Amino acid sequence: MSESTEKRVAIVTGGSRGIGRAIVLEMARAGYYVVINYRSNDAAAAEVLDRVRSDGGEGELIKFDVSDTAQAGAAMEDLLTRRPVIDALVNNAGITADNLFLMMSETEWDSVIGTTLKGFYNMTKPVLKKMLRHKRGSVVSIASVAGLVGNKGQANYSAAKAGLIGASRSIASELARKNIRVNVVAPGLIETDMIKDAPVEMIKNVIPMGRIGKPEEVATVVRFLCSDDASYITGQVIGVNGGMM
Ligand code: NDP
Repeated sequence: MSESTEKRVAIVTGGSRGIGRAIVLEMARAGYYVVINYRSNDAAAAEVLDRVRSDGGEGELIKFDVSDTAQAGAAMEDLLTRRPVIDALVNNAGITADNLFLMMSETEWDSVIGTTLKGFYNMTKPVLKKMLRHKRGSVVSIASVAGLVGNKGQANYSAAKAGLIGASRSIASELARKNIRVNVVAPGLIETDMIKDAPVEMIKNVIPMGRIGKPEEVATVVRFLCSDDASYITGQVIGVNGGMM
């Protein structure tokens, strides 16, 4: 067996930028072969894989829209044929399309729910089937503080992230006796492209630590949850939010 097939394997959706990028680099440094999913930004994805390799790690890119069942199905079938043992799945891909609910279009609603929840379904189901066969694995999904408290202008996003929490808790209890753990990380405000239009200075006032978080501060928690150090943790939602309640 070559070294790469002996490595633990982690799939990270939306791994080309922001929090996903930091998770990819953290997991690669922890020794995982990283499968980096992204939707459109080829240059950003290539930069992350280059960085993984220059840090001495290994990985590959897989480009598809997680919310597109046909695309995701074909890509996952190919991946899982080549790499049937998956140790960690990180459902990180997510988008926002903010609007007040009464102004919110069906497209704004569907795109956010689709990326988060259909994406979760399309990725998690095939991976869990493999994990079940090998009787081990960890799934971590990136929700948000918005899934725990409603944010004005984010009914679609809050609904999607709350749904992610509910689905993860259900599946955690279904698979708890199978050595498969399912957890959620709920970040507060994290410095990425996603928040470039957010009123950061105003929001800082409601963060007890008085600052926004760094992608790496989420990534280390994800890496911990995927590791054997978290062997008795399942069905949990871990906040990474500078002390927001
Ligand atoms: P970014 O916008 O910086 O990055 C999003 C990533 O997701 C990109 O790699 C993008 O790929 C990918 N992506 C988006 N849609 C799809 C799709 N349909 N299929 C596959 N990949 C997709 O976001 P963040 O890093 O800020 O957010 C990452 C996660 O963390 C999201 O789930 C977000 O909701 C959550 N989060 C973020 C917070 C923040 O303050 N930043 C706070 C709380 C939660 P590409 O560039 O190719 O489109």
